[in-house]
Amino acid sequence: MKRTTGRTITAMAIRRWFWLAGALAGGSFAWIFRPYFSPGALILGGGAILLFAALVGDLFVVLMSMGSTRRAAPPPNARPADGRVDRLVMTGAIGEPNARDPRFSAFRALRPVEGLPAPVRLPSGAMPPLLGRITLVSLFVGRDHHPWSDDEIAQAHAALFRAGVWIEREAIRWKAPVNLTLADTYFVVDDEASTDVEMTFEPEGESVGPLEAHAVTKALIDTSRAALRLGFRDAVDWMEQIRSRIDADALVWLLHPRRAGRSLAIPLDLTELAGVSLAVCYARESSFPEPLTRAPFTDPVTIVHELLHLFGAMDKYGSPLRSYPPRSVSSRDIMRLNEFRLSRLRIDRQTAWEIGWEIGEEERLAQPPER
Ligand SMILES: [Zn+2]
Repeated sequence: MKRTTGRTITAMAIRRWFWLAGALAGGSFAWIFRPYFSPGALILGGGAILLFAALVGDLFVVLMSMGSTRRAAPPPNARPADGRVDRLVMTGAIGEPNARDPRFSAFRALRPVEGLPAPVRLPSGAMPPLLGRITLVSLFVGRDHHPWSDDEIAQAHAALFRAGVWIEREAIRWKAPVNLTLADTYFVVDDEASTDVEMTFEPEGESVGPLEAHAVTKALIDTSRAALRLGFRDAVDWMEQIRSRIDADALVWLLHPRRAGRSLAIPLDLTELAGVSLAVCYARESSFPEPLTRAPFTDPVTIVHELLHLFGAMDKYGSPLRSYPPRSVSSRDIMRLNEFRLSRLRIDRQTAWEIGWEIGEEERLAQPPER
């Protein structure tokens, strides 16, 4: 559930600093002017200075959250969300149909296709807004001598559908032109990487939480190793080639390790490998990476949460709700994770801003209908 970030200054911390500065300034005022004014006037003056500083702090926090808003323009032919998630053909991909859900196939090879656009460099730099045609591509990684079965992969696809439909419904509510599709071809590898686990502690809002050390680097190494096994030069080559065979504005790469662990997203601005951005969605959520003791369960909540990280959404747990601008984050926000069921969750205004769903000033001021 983690977007691995460096240290983030929360709104609460900023407010606290303004209060402290205000208290110091107010106290200094009272001390310096104590020979000239009555105690009552000193208290009044000091208090006014403190309140003024607090007010400036609040204003600063609000402006900061607005400044983080990206004026996102949807891709040219973006259509309104329709609440439906379709399959999208990966051009020229040869695959073996899934025994349980033959609409999807396990990748075997790419055949040359005439007139295919040449592979282009992966996008880099800033995270794109969640707008336009977005296609989800999955890599299933068998671990601990247990490959993913066709049944399990079919179940994971059912979760992907649910996640996609949920996002489109929220997009309808926010009037954001987003259309999600699932690639008809998925990738499967088995990986018996070293199972040494080194733990570290990462800031999470105002507290710290455990996280596997070098989780980002390890996920990128796993991805590169998978690419090699699948017959590509490396992760970049793999993603570039697939990119040119999928007709979409953006691809979302999902890595499904058949393990328990802490899911995480590697957005473009955090990746250590040119343009390789992906979400790692563990088959069970746990603080420490460990072999599965039960059947894998791909949670649509995890898929949505990590996917949104890839488009700029920030975690909103670990900080009190009052540290956000009024009515911008509720306990039901998907990035806050107070609820376990997708149907109870939603995208609140702050998260909508972050993923580029703030289309116009009028829409921003008008709260979308409740669901
Ligand atoms: Zn998260």
